[in-house]
Amino acid sequence: MNQPRIVVLTGAGISAESGVRTFRDNGGLWEEHRVEDVATPDAWAFDPEMVWRFYQARRRQLLEVQPNGAHLALALLQKNMKQFTLITQNVDDLHERGGSSDVIHMHGELRTLRCEASQRSEVRMQASDLTDDVSLCSCCANPVRMRPDIVWFGEIPMHMEAILNAVETCEVFIVVGSSGHVYPAAGLVDQANNAGARTILVNLEAPVNASAFDEILLGPAGELLPQLVDRLISDND
Ligand code: NAD
Repeated sequence: MNQPRIVVLTGAGISAESGVRTFRDNGGLWEEHRVEDVATPDAWAFDPEMVWRFYQARRRQLLEVQPNGAHLALALLQKNMKQFTLITQNVDDLHERGGSSDVIHMHGELRTLRCEASQRSEVRMQASDLTDDVSLCSCCANPVRMRPDIVWFGEIPMHMEAILNAVETCEVFIVVGSSGHVYPAAGLVDQANNAGARTILVNLEAPVNASAFDEILLGPAGELLPQLVDRLISDND
């Protein structure tokens, strides 16, 4: 049997059961901070120490959290499907640690830092990289300050060409744990619909763009996604 081309887009909700908090569920706060205070280029220009401390705490938190059943289910789906693309809005590394490979991080990653001069990213997760002290790059002759390797509000998401190519040619498009507020990610379901894909949503509650989906599964991703993955694998054996 010909297997369908599957694209999965995940958001903060898939990591909620691992203990990484979302921000829409907390009145627009992410770990007690207003998003505009920590996740914009203006915030970095105005108060880099505060933004740095916030992201260093998020980077240290990666060492304390583990992938949950939803991350593991997507790794299993990838192993069983010939044509599979995983796109995440998340900046944590729980998909990789759950066994997924070639994950497209459209909003950047916590485990890397970016040189402000050369724009090169480096994995920087040693204990000495995780203090509240400034980190300097190892690429420039005169090392310069590094910034969080995060796409902030007002910046352009990464890997958009690969993302659009995958979405516009997929046959099944699944969104997991995303409130549908952050664009362009929230609009990808429309592109999948235009391409004729079957669109499926797994979310705790109906998000603003719920009406765009063919099938809606409401509940915790850690419970519902393993069931959906079992169904997709057995349908395509
Ligand atoms: P969001 O915070 O706007 O929305 C999360 C959605 O997940 C909500 O609709 C909520 O109902 C749902 N949800 C909560 N718990 C769930 C569960 N157990 N199972 C299924 N669904 C659940 O998230 P977003 O749409 O991804 O946008 C937030 C932005 O902030 C992203 O761009 C991301 O880069 C960033 N962010 C990332 C992380 C992370 O990396 N883990 C955490 C917070 C925010």
